[in-house]
Amino acid sequence: MKIIRIDPIIADLPLLRPFKMSGVEISVSENVFARIETDTGLVGWGEASSSPAMTGETVESMVAAIRYLTPFLTGRDPADFMDNKKEMDWRLYGNASAKTVLEIALYDLAGKARKMSVAELLGGVQRARMPVVKMLATGDLATDVGDAREGADEGYAAMKIKVGGKPVDQDIERTNAIGDALAGAVQLSSDTNQGWNRDEAVSFARGASAVLDFLEQPLHGHDVEGMAMIAGESSCPIAADEGLHSFDDVRRHHAMGAAQGGSVKMIKLGGVTRAHEATKLFAELGMNVNLAGKTAETSVSSAAVLHLAASRADTGLGGQPDHPLSGHRCGSQSDRRGRRSCLDAGRARAGCGGRRRQAGNLRARALGAHDPIAGQSEKGERTSWQEYPSSIRKMPPRNCRISSARLPA
Ligand SMILES: [Mg+2]
Repeated sequence: MKIIRIDPIIADLPLLRPFKMSGVEISVSENVFARIETDTGLVGWGEASSSPAMTGETVESMVAAIRYLTPFLTGRDPADFMDNKKEMDWRLYGNASAKTVLEIALYDLAGKARKMSVAELLGGVQRARMPVVKMLATGDLATDVGDAREGADEGYAAMKIKVGGKPVDQDIERTNAIGDALAGAVQLSSDTNQGWNRDEAVSFARGASAVLDFLEQPLHGHDVEGMAMIAGESSCPIAADEGLHSFDDVRRHHAMGAAQGGSVKMIKLGGVTRAHEATKLFAELGMNVNLAGKTAETSVSSAAVLHLAASRADTGLGGQPDHPLSGHRCGSQSDRRGRRSCLDAGRARAGCGGRRRQAGNLRARALGAHDPIAGQSEKGERTSWQEYPSSIRKMPPRNCRISSARLPA
């Protein structure tokens, strides 16, 4: 099987409601898809959201990178994952999101050709269900508290509050109100997306970390020293996200005590293969990991993350029996509030047993209310990643209207 054609496609996906995070309000997600055609007639699909602030890539640069790499991938076997990865990395430095779009499509093709799931291509299905996170990102206290209660009723095992978009005292108040409303029923984290200076981060850590299971990226990704300082001020573990773009970044955060866990995202690392390897590195270092997609990706990219999660259930990862799309709590050893966090690798290793909170009947929900998987679940149509067994399949977004698809010229 050989690649004969690659078409990049830009799609703007309006969200059902705006997503507020530090310094930005997102109402439309700009995503790039790739359609890769082979000489056997099989077609593979890949996708990634653009995240200029996280990866430095725009949809235009992603399309340019895909076009630049196209002649070097044409004629190659999609299933030669390592060689294809080497070729892309040798030909073009960086551009991790563009490479992710391509690599997801290559895995899709390989899975379809071999009649294997991507989880099987990655070593095998280790679990069929995994907890997923609900984002609390309206920035409004009453709305977020209501969303949190609703999410708990729906069975969400983990929730993440987006903070950093308002004065820090308001974030402290909102976070504590959500924590009080949930009363320890789910894993609760906050994510600042690099939005604070050190003083603000210290204030928040002192004022709100008691109700959190972990605090994500309070400072700029480059301020690893500052992250280590905040870790000393926080009563909950610290996670890194924007600060992790390479395996060296992961090792540096670990060595400096700057993070006890972090988010693994394909768009930061350059695709499925590298993200899969990263989960192994986190495990070796005793760090916990969130497997995350970028907000507002559709079921193409979400399926890739779910298959990765399915392939990495209990293989080390700080000894925890499960590692979620974005964290979950697995408790038998109590912390100060009678709860525990999987981000605390040492304690997790000691204590995660049969009492861990599972997603239960919460099937593979997508990463946001806009996501087509969630929408289909509500309609009783497709409800689980398990129903996409042969490979990653392109699912037409249903709950997110494509306002404009910019086809290649
Ligand atoms: Mg984050």
